[in-house]
Amino acid sequence: MLCGVNGPEIPFVFAPELHVFLSSAHTVAGTPVLTDGSSTLGHVVESLGVPLTEVGRLVVNGAEVPVSRVPRAGESVEVSAVERPQRIPGAPLRFLLDVHLGTLARRLRLLGVDAAYTNEDPGDPALAALSAQEQRVLLSRDRGLLRRREIWAGAFLYSDQPDEQLQDVLGRFAPTLAPWTRCTACNGRLTDADKESVRERLEHGTQRTYDVFAQCTACGRVYWRGAHHSRLEAIVEKALRDSAT
Ligand SMILES: [Zn+2]
Repeated sequence: MLCGVNGPEIPFVFAPELHVFLSSAHTVAGTPVLTDGSSTLGHVVESLGVPLTEVGRLVVNGAEVPVSRVPRAGESVEVSAVERPQRIPGAPLRFLLDVHLGTLARRLRLLGVDAAYTNEDPGDPALAALSAQEQRVLLSRDRGLLRRREIWAGAFLYSDQPDEQLQDVLGRFAPTLAPWTRCTACNGRLTDADKESVRERLEHGTQRTYDVFAQCTACGRVYWRGAHHSRLEAIVEKALRDSAT
């Protein structure tokens, strides 16, 4: 068997969901990939452009193997997409969002899903470190960021549209929804607040018209049900409907 630079050519079959990451040649089932005889399957798959966060089962000659497996001559590899819903063991499900995902962050919070996000770009190393430190699933459209070894768990977002991103995250992780329990501005938890205690924070018109108040336990922002909520109500209703099916 050849080793070193001219290692074995291994036929790979990638699940259709992963084709978006591959050059067109590698989307053809069974296309041989020249390996170096020492790189792991994880490394080979990543080097073809597929983030390991998106990979489910790896099967070699019919048997499931770990990403640390080094493929050998005569073997063939099947790469599945991650299973949906995907269970993330080890900690309560919570997320950390990459820059430019502010709309998605606010929508997840609207549904009561723990979604950390800041407008300022902390940089890839800091985001990855925070994912590890707080055991948060890092959501990103940046494949380079998702390759960082230190991240605790991650997921690639396939769309740049917030509606589709939300549907993607809810379908993939099936988080428990608790609408209207979290501050969309800062991710803090909301608590019931009576009108008297928040009076000074309200406009006069608001005082007269609306009676349902909640307040963020972290930043103090006051929330009430009003006409401007109809768009948000629609997002909540759709998410609840989708999660029930
Ligand atoms: Zn808040």
